[in-house]
Amino acid sequence: MKNLNRRRFIGQSTLAGAAIAGSVLNWSNFDLARPPEKKLNVALVGLGNYAEMLAGGLQQSNYCRLAGIVTGHPEKADKWQKQYQIPAANSYNYQNFDEIAHNKEIDLIYVVVPNYLHKEYVLRAAKAGKHVITEKPMATSVEDCEEMIQACHQAGVTLSVGYRLHYEPTQLEIARLGQRKIFGQVRFIEAGLGYKTFDLPLKPEPIPDFNAPENWRLNRIKSGGGPMMDLGIYAVQSCRYVLGEEPVSVTAQFGPKFNKRRFAQVEETVYFQMEFPSGTVSNCQTSYAFNTDRFYASADEGFFELSPAISYGPFKGRSSKGEILFPVINQQAAQLDGIGQLILEKKQLPSHITGEEGIKDIRIIRAILEAGETGKKVSLG
Ligand code: NAD
Repeated sequence: MKNLNRRRFIGQSTLAGAAIAGSVLNWSNFDLARPPEKKLNVALVGLGNYAEMLAGGLQQSNYCRLAGIVTGHPEKADKWQKQYQIPAANSYNYQNFDEIAHNKEIDLIYVVVPNYLHKEYVLRAAKAGKHVITEKPMATSVEDCEEMIQACHQAGVTLSVGYRLHYEPTQLEIARLGQRKIFGQVRFIEAGLGYKTFDLPLKPEPIPDFNAPENWRLNRIKSGGGPMMDLGIYAVQSCRYVLGEEPVSVTAQFGPKFNKRRFAQVEETVYFQMEFPSGTVSNCQTSYAFNTDRFYASADEGFFELSPAISYGPFKGRSSKGEILFPVINQQAAQLDGIGQLILEKKQLPSHITGEEGIKDIRIIRAILEAGETGKKVSLG
């Protein structure tokens, strides 16, 4: 499958677009045929691995542009200013960041720092009167998510979470298959995302350095919960958007630690199960010890599955009726366009990309981690 540019993809995918309209995840208000007169000016906070991918997405976005940066490293500031033609006046560090409130050239702040810092920078962005996107997981606790939602609400700015897969056509298709019951009621789901981190580098895209002892992903407080917060969240998400339901209870088991020193503070592997109101059960895994990137749904009259399923893609899969294959898109550009267009047009963001969605995942993940620690089923009420 060729990596089609996005405008061409939209032009060729009206059928897919029409078919998924009305799904929990949808393309509504996402019409690239009409590029805006003014783009939304975005400042990235934290210039690590994922910020590089977002910068790539911003280059391809029709609705957003990279207008500012916030970094603690002056040499990185220089490099990014040159590479992306960012004026020095739009370059901040973590100390003078709050002055961004006076910068009319910045409309939206995109928080891409370690998980435990999401709350601080969302609160500061809201105080500065800027719209804000925070990366997943929204925060490390439910209480922090509540504070973030309230702060943005009071400041009158939008708060969304970086759920790039909500704009990816293969995910939209499995959400449609599940929610519209195209193969009848889904009874069982298997989903997992994990990366083997022992002998990196394994993949071409930027990846975290798990050999660095100070890696925040290995720190319980900074990560908020190891692979569950980092990768397991995608398995939780896929089950939720394919069923269109919220889990009522969870159970979990922590897997063995093959590298006890590296994973002294966080789990290396988590196996977890979620039970949904329809009676459907999902069996999921997430790990830093092995590679897995799969989704499988068994329904009354068939099945559908993806592998690769919930990573950066490209995704491919099949159902009992045939192949599932959609054009490859730039996931970051699609997400930025979806959010950017709504903000520019002063339209309300759908709840599946806002803080109200982010907090649901954190509530579920905290319950899964509690179930793993206690060995007991945890009810989500
Ligand atoms: P990273 O470690 O590569 O980058 C983090 C950045 O934050 C670095 O530039 C670092 O200098 C900066 N930083 C600021 N204050 C810091 C502090 N006190 N300690 C450590 N770093 C500090 O991490 P990343 O992979 O870019 O992840 C950043 C966020 O993006 C995380 O929340 C992660 O979950 C999320 N993420 C999302 C996706 C996605 O597909 N949506 C993919 C990867 C990461």
